Amino acid sequence: MKTIRFGYKVWCLNSDDGYLVTFDLYQGRIYEGNEVNEKVFGKCAATVLKNIDSLSEDKWSLPYNIYFDNLFTSSQLLTELNDRNYGATGTIRANWCKHCPLKSVDSMKKQKRGTTEFATDKVNKIMVCRWMDNAVVSVASTVHTNNASSKVKRYSQSEKKNVEVDCPKIVQEYNQHMGGTDRQNQNVNKYRTGIRGKKLYWCIFTWLIDVTEQNAWLLHKKSGGGLSQFEFKEQIAHTYLTRFGTPPKGAGRPPSCSTKGEKQMLEDIRFDGIEHYLVETQDNKIRRRAGEGCKKRPFSQCSKCNVGLCLACNLSFHIK
Ligand SMILES: [Zn+2]
Ligand SMILES: [Zn+2]
Repeated sequence: MKTIRFGYKVWCLNSDDGYLVTFDLYQGRIYEGNEVNEKVFGKCAATVLKNIDSLSEDKWSLPYNIYFDNLFTSSQLLTELNDRNYGATGTIRANWCKHCPLKSVDSMKKQKRGTTEFATDKVNKIMVCRWMDNAVVSVASTVHTNNASSKVKRYSQSEKKNVEVDCPKIVQEYNQHMGGTDRQNQNVNKYRTGIRGKKLYWCIFTWLIDVTEQNAWLLHKKSGGGLSQFEFKEQIAHTYLTRFGTPPKGAGRPPSCSTKGEKQMLEDIRFDGIEHYLVETQDNKIRRRAGEGCKKRPFSQCSKCNVGLCLACNLSFHIK
C-alpha cells in the first residue's frame, strides 16, 4: 500500500505486478471511513483496513501478505492484521520504536554499512529490524520474523566500485513486494490519457480509465495474451471508435467498415457475448436485416451491434 499523487492524493493497494486491487481517495478532513478504526489506529492505518474491508467477502479469508510504508505502520495495525490472519510488513519511523532495545538511529549511522539489529516483541509477535545502508532503514513485520540475511550489491563511494553488503531478508522482502504501486504508476504514466479537462475532478476520471486499462492488460498477459501495453490500448481505442465513432451515412444501415482491421473489430464485438440486447428499433422503423437468409422484416435490433435482427436470428447471429 502506497500513496500516489497526480494533483490528488490516492492511497493504492496493489499486487506485486502492479494490479490495482483497491484504492482510496484522500479526502482531507472529510473522511468517510470507519470512525472507530480511525480513533484506534489513526487515519492512515484506518485506510489500510478500509481498503481490505472493501474486498469482496469471499476474499477476506485468503492469507494475504500486506506491505506498506512508514505512513501506515503502527504496532496496532500490525497486531490487528495479524489477528485477521494476514501477514504485515512495513517501514517504520525512528521515533515509533523508542522503546525497542535497538541502537538509536544516530549511533547506527556510525556503524559500517550492512550492520543489522533485530528486536522481537513476543507478545504481539512483531519483529523489528534496523539496518544500516546509505541511510538507516527500520522495518517491522509479523511474517518475516527470522534474522536471516544475504548479500546485496551496493556501489561504494569510497572504494569506487560495487561491493557486497549484508542485507536482512525482511528488508529484501519488503523491497521486493513494495514495488507494485510504482509499477502501476510506470504503466499508467507511459500512455497517459492526454485529453485535458477544466474540471478539477477530470484527472481522477482519466486516471481511472488509464488504471482500468492497465489492470485489463495485466489480466490479458496473465491469461497468456501477447499484446504489448501499447497494442492493447490501441485495440481498445480502435474497437470503441469502430463501434461508436462516426455514424454511418444513411439511416438504418449497419455500420460500414472500410478496412480489414475494422471489419475484424466489428466481428470481435459481435461475438464477445457481452450485453447484446434485442431492442425495438427507433420509431418502430424496419431495419435492414442482418440475419443470414432471413425473410422477416425486423422491427428489432441488437443494441450493441446496431443491426436489424428478428428474434429468431438474434441467437445465431451472435454465435460463431
Ligand atoms: Zn450484437
Ligand atoms: Zn431473422
